[in-house]
Amino acid sequence: MSAGPGRRPPRHWMDLAPAERVDAVRAMGLPAFRARQISTHWFTRLEDDPTGWTDLPAAARERIAQTLFPPLMESIEELTADRGATVKTAWRLHDGSIVESVLMRYPHRTTICISSEAGCAMGCPFCATGQGGLQRNLSAAEIVAQVLHGARLLARGAVPGGPARVNNVVFMGMGEPLANFASVLAAVEELSRPEPDGLGISARGLTVSTVGVVPRMRRLTEAGLPVTLAVSLHAPDDELRDELVPLNQRFDIDAVLDAAREYARVSRRRVSIEYALIKDVNDQAWRADLLARRLAERGDRGWVHVNLIPLNPTPGSRWTASRRQDEKAFVEHLERHGIPVTVRDTRGREIDGACGQLAAKVNSDPARFPMAGRTGP
Ligand code: SAH
Ligand code: SF4
Repeated sequence: MSAGPGRRPPRHWMDLAPAERVDAVRAMGLPAFRARQISTHWFTRLEDDPTGWTDLPAAARERIAQTLFPPLMESIEELTADRGATVKTAWRLHDGSIVESVLMRYPHRTTICISSEAGCAMGCPFCATGQGGLQRNLSAAEIVAQVLHGARLLARGAVPGGPARVNNVVFMGMGEPLANFASVLAAVEELSRPEPDGLGISARGLTVSTVGVVPRMRRLTEAGLPVTLAVSLHAPDDELRDELVPLNQRFDIDAVLDAAREYARVSRRRVSIEYALIKDVNDQAWRADLLARRLAERGDRGWVHVNLIPLNPTPGSRWTASRRQDEKAFVEHLERHGIPVTVRDTRGREIDGACGQLAAKVNSDPARFPMAGRTGP
């Protein structure tokens, strides 16, 4: 199956827009209405084996399975934490690349964090994913498949708390979503498209996180989908941000914040500013004041919200999370300027919950993960 890293994945039902699915079944000599039947099995009933879809002609089922539902990835490691409420999955893609997704169940909602690329080209020095470079972009199907897997786990009651649905999807796993724009946009459309043609997750429950690829932020604005935009800022001054987020050397803080402000204006969605607090690097009170000023000068404070993330130290890194009192002071300084702020919970720390850390471990120690594994979507 595998022919080395970087090879494009096979075309899958989830890569196709609804009209293309009709074309695909017609190309197999089947009537158009079969497309809707197939999608109902796949997206509404969350069934994974076309050969068992008995309302389809027996002779066609095997062909449908082979040509429209090729295997995309296999789950090679599934780790749980928080008494089963957090489930982290490491996936091996058809070319051997590894990505990960994390399902987090809370009392009243369930969020899944997914990957948009195998690796990432952006090279942020505090991020495990950034250290390995980019292997390749994921296809729309590979992105949606991660959510589908979570939806299946929840539907069959495999996550404690009874059957449930995915409410939120955040593109905060491996990769820079806006660097893989076409596939991410197609995935977002499919996730939010009503059943049976998609998973029917409200676009408001989808969050695309970017490091600040300004031209693509503008394209996302023009696309007019009401997804939430998260911007990973991490520093309020270009001098420090140039170091923490190398892309800042191309698109500086003013450019990124202007594009974020414009997104908020057009989408009428509050933008989330992500800020990983790193001890003695970016957690000084004066930086909180500067951050607040730069956000407040772009209009009334309702356009934005700051989400502070305690740094999850990556192996071998000289950086670590801020002291408790510095984190508290940072929050207070933002609040003093009227900026809404929250501190992100740190679900799944003991299972390498942070961006790219599980996959980084798998990549560095392939012996731990034998080829035999459960098959994914
Ligand atoms: N590439 C996108 C989305 C994936 S990273 C982006 O950077 O926004 C998702 C989030 O995890 C980003 O806000 C990123 O800055 C953060 N992150 C990466 N490594 C981290 C670490 N070691 N500790 C805490 N947050 C981290
Ligand atoms: Fe890529 Fe985001 Fe990690 Fe930066 S923080 S290297 S953009 S995944």
